[in-house]
Amino acid sequence: MPAMADTLTSLVGMDLTELQAAVTACGGKPFQAKQLAQWLYAKRELNFDAMTNLSKDLRAKLAENFALLTSRVIAGEESGEGTTKLGIRLHDGMVIETVLMREDERVTACISTQAGCAMGCRFCASGQLGLKRHLTAGEILEQFLHLSELMRTQDATPDWLTNVVVMGMGEPLHNFDNLLKALTILNAEWGFHFGARRVTVSTVGLPQRIRDLAEQGFQFNLAISLHGVDDASRSALIPTNAGLEKILAAAKYYFEQTRREVTFEYTLVGGKNDDAESAHKLADLVKDFPRANVNLIPMNPVEGSGLETPATESVNTFAEILRNAGVNVHVRRRRGRRVQAACGQLRLKLEAVSG
Ligand code: SAH
Repeated sequence: MPAMADTLTSLVGMDLTELQAAVTACGGKPFQAKQLAQWLYAKRELNFDAMTNLSKDLRAKLAENFALLTSRVIAGEESGEGTTKLGIRLHDGMVIETVLMREDERVTACISTQAGCAMGCRFCASGQLGLKRHLTAGEILEQFLHLSELMRTQDATPDWLTNVVVMGMGEPLHNFDNLLKALTILNAEWGFHFGARRVTVSTVGLPQRIRDLAEQGFQFNLAISLHGVDDASRSALIPTNAGLEKILAAAKYYFEQTRREVTFEYTLVGGKNDDAESAHKLADLVKDFPRANVNLIPMNPVEGSGLETPATESVNTFAEILRNAGVNVHVRRRRGRRVQAACGQLRLKLEAVSG
């Protein structure tokens, strides 16, 4: 099979059954699938030659027939403050973003699940692009391998991720099957063995998909992007709004099934949803939740959106109102703000450069 490396099927993204098929097709024994999984996921080894408990012959056959990575890092951007954004080019030229954030003892990865996004949020750089395509489970997981390489060059502790947020490009629940497969491998004992409680899936709010996720038996955290306090204000920012009532009911269901706290994200857009009345309404909306958690995110300016970042004063007032209503609220400041790096802006820049 004389194919270019990046047109070969990648082993990354395969579950144990699939790895077993790959190993036996290359003349190995079924039990060696677990050894291979350990190299790929637990050890994050990107070189077949280093997989020394597999025979030379098996390694050679695997290398001939399968790739380890189908994507490559084309740009890295340091923000200072411990944040690094990677621009990653997929085999077909699409560019996605992956972000690494260091903050004391926390190292968080922000990963993408789609190239572009179909949800069309007015303030979001990925939304402007529309959906190009879903990422495969392998492409979702390859982001961890690129981050692993980056972290090996950093020579800092912790030397591996402590948290994962699925808040990069795309709507994760719109790519449900591939997301679930990737997160299953991330969590599995034979996979990355990464604790589900350290993984947060952020969604625009697809009610049926939230319910589906609740029924998978995982302990992932859920974050719901709210951004509006009634359907009129929400739909003005999110044209694909599925309806607040349905979304909140699904969020409750998620809590009931998993007992994991749900976080609400609220991007504050100047003059659109950052007034005091909205703050009071938001407090009312979330107060039924056991320990309501709200993350306020002052909008990061996006060229062409026609929307503006809110005044510092209205951010402070908004937070204050929620706090006084007993809501647990965090403000993600623009500098060092967690999601800032994950809004598709690096990709916009890279695509502008590469035409
Ligand atoms: N599609 C998912 C995850 C990706 S976006 C979701 O909607 O939750 C992650 C978070 O960043 C969301 O809350 C999103 O609304 C927010 N976000 C996107 N663009 C932003 C911008 N320009 N400024 C502030 N927050 C933004």
